[in-house]
Amino acid sequence: MKYLIILIFVSINVNANESLRLAELAEQQILEGNPTNGILLALEALPKNIYKPDKAYVVEAEIQLLNGLLQLHEYYENFDWFSTALDSENKYDVSFYTGNYRWRQALANQDRCVAYVEQHFNASEGRRDSYTMVIVSYESSQKVRKWAKSYVKNIARTFGIRKYLGRGILVGGYNGRGNGNLKYLNMPAVLLESLFATNPRHAKWIKNEVNQLQLAFILFKSIKKYFPQGGRICFSVGHKYKYYPRNDRGAHVYGGGRESEYAEIILKQAQSLIEYKLLQGYFVPPLIKKLQDFVKSNLDLPALEFDEALYDKTSELLLALSSQQLIDYAREIIPRCSFTEEQRVRFALPKLKSQRLIESGEKLARRGRIKSATRKFKQARKLDHCLQFNPEEKARWIAAQVEIYNAQKLAEKMKMPAARAKFKKAMRIYSKFRINPDKETRRIAADELIKQGEKFAEAGKIETALIKFQTAITINVNLNFDPHEKVRKLAIKPLLRKGMYAIRQANMKQALIINVKTHVVDPKGLYSENFWSSLCWYGSLYGHAKSVMNACTKTVELKSENESYRDSRGLARALTGDFKGAIADFEFYMKHAKLKHKLVKREQWLSQLREGINPFTETVIQGLLGK
Ligand SMILES: [Zn+2]
Repeated sequence: MKYLIILIFVSINVNANESLRLAELAEQQILEGNPTNGILLALEALPKNIYKPDKAYVVEAEIQLLNGLLQLHEYYENFDWFSTALDSENKYDVSFYTGNYRWRQALANQDRCVAYVEQHFNASEGRRDSYTMVIVSYESSQKVRKWAKSYVKNIARTFGIRKYLGRGILVGGYNGRGNGNLKYLNMPAVLLESLFATNPRHAKWIKNEVNQLQLAFILFKSIKKYFPQGGRICFSVGHKYKYYPRNDRGAHVYGGGRESEYAEIILKQAQSLIEYKLLQGYFVPPLIKKLQDFVKSNLDLPALEFDEALYDKTSELLLALSSQQLIDYAREIIPRCSFTEEQRVRFALPKLKSQRLIESGEKLARRGRIKSATRKFKQARKLDHCLQFNPEEKARWIAAQVEIYNAQKLAEKMKMPAARAKFKKAMRIYSKFRINPDKETRRIAADELIKQGEKFAEAGKIETALIKFQTAITINVNLNFDPHEKVRKLAIKPLLRKGMYAIRQANMKQALIINVKTHVVDPKGLYSENFWSSLCWYGSLYGHAKSVMNACTKTVELKSENESYRDSRGLARALTGDFKGAIADFEFYMKHAKLKHKLVKREQWLSQLREGINPFTETVIQGLLGK
């Protein structure tokens, strides 16, 4: 008995120490301007039920809870300056999509979302980059682009930063940036790169609650403006919740944390704005109103007068609540129900039992054990009121993703019937996932062939690349490109790079070999113009005028009005004894030249050429080479 008492005493004491640590963390968060984190930490430190405590009550935690609530009220009150007219009823519901991007999109299509938003934060090598950008798909409508423009405009104005390339919009090309996240959707969709995770100033905003609220609010406002009819708004947290790679969390945010955590926080915040969970009816003083109602119904004081003066005194109202009432009120109005997984790790909070249940449920679901997984998810939901999924649906979606992933792998290996069978199985497991198994298999197989073809083309293996591209087109008839042109475009790039390098190194032997290759790969000269023109000039100066003549001729054929192409050919012609031709070219140059200081030299050359003298002596050539 004695031991038991000591044991209880020790455990409550340890417990109180932990509560004090959490109260201190809460204070820090509130000082940093993050009241929601502060409130969540204070709630974590306090017993749920004061009268049946599961942990020691420490007054420090209650003080922080009060501080957090006061700061939160202040934040929301200050949102006056947005003053949006709101409807009195909620016309929206928000749902989040998980799984690989392609699969999220299939589900969103099935759900007939009115709009789809994927939240990211940008990243770059340096810390300097500072602009806001929205990516839209290459097939996006004018309406989508307007929506995107209004979003970037508001972000740029609120945070005082530039818009990407002045417009703020990036249109993903075929297989372009962000396109894989959007191109399968059949509703208006945007991918937000609102701020830069890698920029220290932006990172501060990303982590601060007022700025998070601004980000969420700008998104909310743009949705209200462009989709006033209401409906389902579909959200996707960038990077997180993919089946593969499962641990992708996006860019590292400067000073700690990851892109996807904050993307999730902002979308959750936007969800509560859009669904009016936080702000029933009005926007401006809704929390105060809630607080008044709460005080009215909980303090059994019908005689208490709620006059205007008292309405303004938030702190007095909060103080009027008992400890238990304060805890209940905080739980009711908190803008985010719980910490993210990553936050729990950062604040050194133990894993929740519900979290452990979800993890084991996920493992079971991945092994196809849907019933047992569902049971785990149900238990988790019972323990944690913040969890909002349908247990069976969740289990089925996870199990289906395994099949889809395998189907994809099979399709990439051209095992078409097996891939189709896996897709069909996935749809049987999770009926909301609807795709055309045959089309999808063909699409993946063709994309894989294109990927391989690109590698071969870049390595100069043109024949193999061509076969890959041609096969891709026969497998997926929706593909629309000229395989020859694609090979050319890919194969020419490394050639041109090497060629220009050879010229700079004065390695004419190498440059001439590459010249021959460029004429084969790019007979029309769509990409090689610059290289040919440089080769014509330097090749001539280095004593290979005859060998580079075809390059000189080609550039003039392509652009007969270009005076510097004529100038280079003039040099080559003079050096190969074609004085008449050289005179014509230099005369053309004299007439059209924009750089007047070069004219003196040309005039001298012309007069010598007219007298039948080659002006390009060794000394002149060395001078032109800058030696
Ligand atoms: Zn991202």
